[in-house]
Amino acid sequence: MTTLTFDSLNPATGAVVGSHPKATPAAVHEAVGRAETAAAWWTALGHAERRRRLLDYKAVLTQHIRELAALVHEENGKPVGDATLELVLAVTHLDWAARNAAKVLGRRRVNTGMIGLNLAATLEYLPLGVVGVIGPWNYPVFTPMGSIAYALAAGNAVVFKPSELTPGIGVRLAELFRESVPEHDVFQTVTGLGETGAALAGDPRVKKVAFTGSTATAKRVMAACAENLTPIVAECGGKDAFIVDADADLAAAADACLWGAMSNAGQTCVGVERVYVVDAVYDGFMRELTGRAARLKAGEDYGPITMPGQVDVIKRHIDDAVKAGRTVTGGSDAVRAPYVDPVIVEDVPEDSPAVREETFGPTITVRRTRDAQEALELANASAYGLGGTIFSRNARRATELARLMRSGMTAINSVISFAGVPSLPFGGVGDSGFGRIHGADGLREFARPKAISRQRFAMPGMNITSFNRGPAELERLVRLVTFLHGRRKR
Ligand code: NDP
Repeated sequence: MTTLTFDSLNPATGAVVGSHPKATPAAVHEAVGRAETAAAWWTALGHAERRRRLLDYKAVLTQHIRELAALVHEENGKPVGDATLELVLAVTHLDWAARNAAKVLGRRRVNTGMIGLNLAATLEYLPLGVVGVIGPWNYPVFTPMGSIAYALAAGNAVVFKPSELTPGIGVRLAELFRESVPEHDVFQTVTGLGETGAALAGDPRVKKVAFTGSTATAKRVMAACAENLTPIVAECGGKDAFIVDADADLAAAADACLWGAMSNAGQTCVGVERVYVVDAVYDGFMRELTGRAARLKAGEDYGPITMPGQVDVIKRHIDDAVKAGRTVTGGSDAVRAPYVDPVIVEDVPEDSPAVREETFGPTITVRRTRDAQEALELANASAYGLGGTIFSRNARRATELARLMRSGMTAINSVISFAGVPSLPFGGVGDSGFGRIHGADGLREFARPKAISRQRFAMPGMNITSFNRGPAELERLVRLVTFLHGRRKR
């Protein structure tokens, strides 16, 4: 007999945090049906009322910040402080999405150009209908909210399938939404395992799927979506590089590097995984880094590994790196499940799993490079391309390097700072996925452009879209286009 519920466990203690239904495909389809009805109502409310409701929801979440942080701590394992930080970021994004949706998506006139002189044209971005959000466990509030808030602000209804490791927080986010929007099921959470997510992705009434997780599962979700031509936005993690240039503030760089790599036990899609340091400052940087790393402890400064199976991946990467490189901090015995102490290994070959594959643990590889150019080339030689970091006191040079980094986002002299700027789009290239959440691009991701052209008056002697068009009209058109576009620029 198949069980009808599943438990979410505290990854530190194994204690049951909560029990949740395994939503069957039929239950998912019912939720999508309710969402369709809700979407029509929510869309009709218009931007101003939606903004009011979403800002109210923001206030409700903020008022429950301690309760929610405690729940994230229990289900995911991260310290309450980090959980609180995650909630603050999520609320910031919700606020931005609510306040900016009308401006970004609302109807506006656009220029029609000389040939369209007799036309008026408007552009607006309309909601898609029902958006399915499939979320991860590493940032169970911040990450899905990057899709949920923007999809709701764009006028869609949302059906959210949280990770089976963090269902409770997903349920609570939707429950609290009802305080601000009690009339219809505009935001619902369906709990369950992979099958539940697959049912959501495969429902033809879901008009877009926002997925965060592994590249392999993204491909499966995309294949399910292909059946119905359902578009997806995919955020699939990364192997982010951290570059330290010769003129960097080494203490600040080491501090940021360590936090970027080890906070949340390294389970951060834009976490630091590969470090490239130019020769001139290598020894100084390593002194700063290892001194700080020696004081860090799993279970105190950061939590356990949330997904038990991930410990094996982390251990495989560490064992391989330790064998092939030079261990500076930690080593194979750093793994004492569910905790992993910090591991830093130098000179690990660039083709080894610890450098190529996403580790998602509190580990980094460090390599000495000739200069920043070589560091950039190594950073870019990855199948992934999500985020990245550059430390340099030369703002111009750092910006140049950032622009050349093959990634969706790059932070300079700070780590992951782009995630807290709601107006910046978030997403990657290559195996890191495609599409964007956050910012104006994130709002447009959950909307479809609607273009309207209206003829204001008939253009005398220029009725070109008619079978009555004569050679004289064509001649006038050729003369006009030659005047407008026929001059070469040398
Ligand atoms: P998955 O990619 O397997 O899961 C991500 C989400 O997709 C979960 O909600 C999961 O549900 C759901 N899901 C699983 N199978 C299907 C399916 N066939 N159709 C629809 N939805 C599905 O990631 P894991 O949690 O297993 O983590 C594996 C690796 O992914 C990690 O080691 C890490 O490297 C990477 N990862 C990256 C993240 C990021 O932020 N980009 C976040 C999390 C993981 P359920 O949990 O119920 O299986």
